[in-house]
Amino acid sequence: MRNYAIAFAIAAAACLFASCSSYPEASIILKNGEIYTMEPGQPWARAVVISGNKILAVLETDTEADRYAGSGTHVIDLHGKFALPGFIDAHTHFESAGAMVNGVNLLTVADDAGLRKEISRVVPIVGKGEWITGGLWGAYEQWSQGAAGSGEKRLRRWEPQRSAIDDLTADNPAFLSSFDSKLFLANTAALKAAGLETARLAGMKLAAGGLPTGLIAEGSPALKALRQAVKPKSEARLLNESRAALKRLAESGIVEIHDITDPDQAGRYATLQEGGELTCRIWMRPDLSRGAELRDKGLKMGTHPVTKQPDTFLRYGALKGYIDGIMGTHGALFFAAYDDQPGNFGHYRPHTSDDPKLLAPNMKKMQDLIRTGVDAGFVTNVHAIGDKGVSLMLDTYESLMQQTGRTLEGFRVIHAQVIRPEDLPRFKKLHVIAEVNPYHISDDMRWMEERIGHERCRGAYAFKSLLDNDAMLSFGSDWPGTSAAEYYMHPKYLLHAAVNRTTLNGKPEGGWFPEQKIPIEEALKAYTINNAIAAFEDDERGSLKAGKLADITVLDRNLLKIDPKTILQTSIDLTMVDGRIVFQRN
Ligand SMILES: [Zn+2]
Repeated sequence: MRNYAIAFAIAAAACLFASCSSYPEASIILKNGEIYTMEPGQPWARAVVISGNKILAVLETDTEADRYAGSGTHVIDLHGKFALPGFIDAHTHFESAGAMVNGVNLLTVADDAGLRKEISRVVPIVGKGEWITGGLWGAYEQWSQGAAGSGEKRLRRWEPQRSAIDDLTADNPAFLSSFDSKLFLANTAALKAAGLETARLAGMKLAAGGLPTGLIAEGSPALKALRQAVKPKSEARLLNESRAALKRLAESGIVEIHDITDPDQAGRYATLQEGGELTCRIWMRPDLSRGAELRDKGLKMGTHPVTKQPDTFLRYGALKGYIDGIMGTHGALFFAAYDDQPGNFGHYRPHTSDDPKLLAPNMKKMQDLIRTGVDAGFVTNVHAIGDKGVSLMLDTYESLMQQTGRTLEGFRVIHAQVIRPEDLPRFKKLHVIAEVNPYHISDDMRWMEERIGHERCRGAYAFKSLLDNDAMLSFGSDWPGTSAAEYYMHPKYLLHAAVNRTTLNGKPEGGWFPEQKIPIEEALKAYTINNAIAAFEDDERGSLKAGKLADITVLDRNLLKIDPKTILQTSIDLTMVDGRIVFQRN
């Protein structure tokens, strides 16, 4: 890159003595902006010049930028708007997100009106004959979204019936479930498809006339028949779900995701890329158990799933492991029991246990999986949520470092949700990245203190403490969330949570454990350059600098100048990926 810049400077200088324009013609010029570059040597700029998929120059004045304009240049006046290196989301479940965007999302629904509204939205999207499944209703039934604590708890449980949706779903079998899989709803078309229209099996709630209402309780034999009757989604429908998720990412200013990817989805990404439809870079994170399989196929970190060659757009990233459960189901692993469930310390996962109940650990299993992955050319990113989960994960990394003698750059503890004080300095010591999900604060605070108490919450989402201990933060959304919570992907939610630490409704006043608020500058770093470092590609991406790939997001307001309380009002104006505008707000 440096040689290129020098050659270019010489050509430009030569032109001072001749009436020629030796500046290469730009494909796109963004000018008249407040541009935050993430480059310490030139933190602010006014214009960015782009040629093809790369940044040609980052400039202080529009006049300098105009020299690159030719007849084929697309010049965009930013009218003083805020631009920065494109947001990189370090944690998505893209396939589930697409299924949620194009399918029913009932997490916040707990009444017939909400159900009908969502079903009406989805029926035209999926098309005639297609099954409508899932939904996960009622996750916010006890604590409404935006609630800050257990004082607002509701206890009544909504019990939907097929009559509520039959008129909307005559051509679509619907088989829905509550967020905790305790209750299910089948419409008439689904009951028919499963041969249950007049059945009276255990667990099926019947109406006064003796016919099924469609409401079915967990454990009912009717569920097995329904599951067998569900028609799998067609490849065309799955591709449409991917397209819908890509559209949302572009609209949200996201230029790359570090995605938890299943093998089928890797193929779908490749198909979309071939058709020119992949509008977001994808760093795919396969399951930790697949290290040996990928090695045998000739794949390693950084390589494309089809060509097996290095690719900056679609490639394998780290292997994703799991050490413990999640807070939403009291499954995260703690040294002391949950405050509201005495005797429950959380549980392990199949990567760390052979116990069918996941209560007895087998950490050797995870160590071996990580070792296989490392030998195959992969670093690992491992989910650890409770204080014991995080601590055990750091122990595991420490012994890997001792055994192999290698440094642990790029290895991550994912979520790192609750950390004991003594474990905070270990991130820096081991060079392990804390990949955190700030929006979890805004959502989880409704029950955090009830579940683990005030004292342990001091180490929850402790971003400031991590920074004070020189840990590297990486931001990801965890979009679309868990069976118990919806996690938003739009960067405004993550930035709001990290900087303000309140719910979407601004509760509690001043922020939840406000000493853990972090400055917006640190939050933006964790969302851009740090995530490029975390993918070993900071020489090519993550900041705005001549020679780097042209991934840029434009926002309607300067996040460094506004009152942080107004972050949630931010809009994305333009998203550029690889020098191509993939979204522009009118
Ligand atoms: Zn996740």
